[in-house]
Amino acid sequence: MADWNWWPRFHDPALRLSLREQAALHWDANIRMLRDWRACWSFTWISLVPAVLFVGAVRLVIADDHGRALGSLSPTTLLAVGLALVPLYLLLQHIAFSIAMKRTYIPFVRAALTARGYPTCIACGHLLGPATPANCPECGSGTSDPR
Ligand SMILES: [Zn+2]
Repeated sequence: MADWNWWPRFHDPALRLSLREQAALHWDANIRMLRDWRACWSFTWISLVPAVLFVGAVRLVIADDHGRALGSLSPTTLLAVGLALVPLYLLLQHIAFSIAMKRTYIPFVRAALTARGYPTCIACGHLLGPATPANCPECGSGTSDPR
C-alpha cells in the first residue's frame, strides 16, 4: 500500500474548492454512485467486514453460542478484553472505510469533478487541464470513462 492515506484523498490538493463547491461535488458524486448498485454493494460489504470480525471476536473470547459467558475468565478480564477490542475495531473500521471509499466512491468524485469542469483522471485523481489528453500524464490510464 504505497499510496496509503489515513483519510481518502478525493482530488488533487492543487484544486482549491470552497465548502459550498465541495458539498455540491460530493452530492453529485453520491447521486452518481447510487445509480451504480455494484459500487454500493462493494461499499457496503467492505464496510461491514470489521463489524463481522468484531462480533466474531467477542463471541470467540467472551461468550459461547448461547450467549453465556465462558466460565474460565473472570468478569474483570472479560471486561478488559471487551474494552481492548473496541479501539482495534475502530481502527479496522476506519481502514475498511478508507478502502471502501477509495475503491468505490472516489471514482465517482473524480467523474463529478470532470463533469463540473475540472477534468480529472479517474484512476489517480490527477488534474488533466482543459485540453484533456487521451491518457493521463501522471499514471498513463485512459481518460475517457462513462461514469
Ligand atoms: Zn492518472
